Amino acid sequence: MSIDSLTALVRTIPDFPKPGIQFRDITTLLADAGGLRELVDRMADVARPLDPDLIVGIEARGFILGAALALSLGKGFVPVRKAGKLPGRTVGIDYVLEYGTDRLEMHEGQVPDGARVLLVDDLIATGGTALAAAQLLREQGASVLMALFAIDLPDLGGIAALEADGVAAAAIIA
Ligand code: 5GP
Repeated sequence: MSIDSLTALVRTIPDFPKPGIQFRDITTLLADAGGLRELVDRMADVARPLDPDLIVGIEARGFILGAALALSLGKGFVPVRKAGKLPGRTVGIDYVLEYGTDRLEMHEGQVPDGARVLLVDDLIATGGTALAAAQLLREQGASVLMALFAIDLPDLGGIAALEADGVAAAAIIA
């Protein structure tokens, strides 16, 4: 499948979740068997040469793509969740949003010291979420080989922000 056909499977929903926001909805792509296969294959082609120890996915759509990628590469999967969702002992990081703050958490010890991880989410906008997740992983002693996304919104500068912070980053659809 061409990149144009893959891109065409993503729809844009105006004014979600707030007026003025053009939400890029990947559920249409996920629902298409060929599109899902193509996206995961393209992500796997980028990730495979890095040979990560683990795939780390960011709630919630990063779980879908991260788990698919982990299966495709034969690696384990670790979720990074919003505060208060994980049942075991957690480590976390607070980060600043446009309005207020948020918190990401992961299970303590699930990413071992020295692990080489690939960070996955569906979309990068400003990069704030991925930067926080990468920082949390580094604090656990992991090295983030790359942050990989299905979609980049280049006007918002997220990939540049990650790279300025020393995290290699890439997206399949821009
Ligand atoms: P950032 O922190 O880079 O500004 O925003 C990225 C995070 O918000 C990701 O976790 C992503 O899932 C979510 N997000 C922001 N805008 C969109 C969008 O238009 N579509 C989708 N699917 N997710 C979005």
